[in-house]
Amino acid sequence: MRVVIVGGGILGLAAGRLLARERPDDEVLLFEKEAALAQHQTGRNSGVVHAGLYYEPGSLKARLCRRGGQPLRAFCRQHGLASVELADGSAVGADRVLVCAGLHADRLARVSGESEEPRIVPFRGEYWRLHAPRSHLVRGLVYPVPDLSLPFLGVHLTRTVGGSVLVGPNAVLAYAREAYRRRDVATSDLWDTVSWPGMWRVARRHWRFGRRGDRASSSKRAFVRETRRLVPELRPDDVVPGTRRRARPGGR
Ligand SMILES: Cc1cc2nc3c(=O)[nH]c(=O)nc-3n(C[C@H](O)[C@H](O)[C@H](O)COP(=O)(O)OP(=O)(O)OC[C@H]3O[C@@H](n4cnc5c(N)ncnc54)[C@H](O)[C@@H]3O)c2cc1C
Repeated sequence: MRVVIVGGGILGLAAGRLLARERPDDEVLLFEKEAALAQHQTGRNSGVVHAGLYYEPGSLKARLCRRGGQPLRAFCRQHGLASVELADGSAVGADRVLVCAGLHADRLARVSGESEEPRIVPFRGEYWRLHAPRSHLVRGLVYPVPDLSLPFLGVHLTRTVGGSVLVGPNAVLAYAREAYRRRDVATSDLWDTVSWPGMWRVARRHWRFGRRGDRASSSKRAFVRETRRLVPELRPDDVVPGTRRRARPGGR
């Protein structure tokens, strides 16, 4: 059987690896639209293996976090690499197609005949970094108490494997699905967002959160004020520019 996977982020790659191991007689092809793998969410996240604590107890998200954490850690220990085949964009026949297209997953679902919802609404997340001499302020992970009505975790502090401390991400409505800078705009993405009634439902429900995110995006002081709820000792000089990155799905 030939299986085509669309998307070379962690989901597509993990699915490809599993298929290559479990069904060695199958041919697995992976299509990635970028020149390299993991250029979007997978290469732009906080790098935390979530324990599931943060999500509603018993929810699918919480259960999947618990189930996935252990094999992920084992994988990291082994440093195993999946062997996937990258092909060019020419037409390819397949017996099965697995779509792991991240920020474009809803579009590919629609062209496969699935429903209009859920829809992806892109948000950009911005990270700062603790200035190295102040990184002792955070020795682990500092998260806010979760608000389960929101699709975002809220600004948090993450000590990375390299010892630096990431501060963020906030969540700001983005004008393109793969917008990593404030000025990135894609008219078709923007139209998709504003013409979807679900977007206005989310905006009505969460406008206060949105306003806080916008403020934190346009002013470092506001960003630090937001973060001081978690680390009261923090001063504006303690944070230095991190990588401003991520477009994240926020719609439902
Ligand atoms: C800011 C941020 C912080 C996060 N922090 C954490 C964390 O600490 N811990 C954690 O567990 N998770 C975290 N996450 C979530 C995690 O990063 C994502 O759930 C995960 O990376 C999603 O992987 P994916 O493979 O589905 O999507 P992606 O990594 O986005 O991959 C999708 C791929 O599909 C490709 N693609 C799209 N359309 C097509 C097409 N038509 N043809 C070919 N290729 C296509 C894209 O180019 C992309 O490479 C975070 C996410 C964000 C945004």
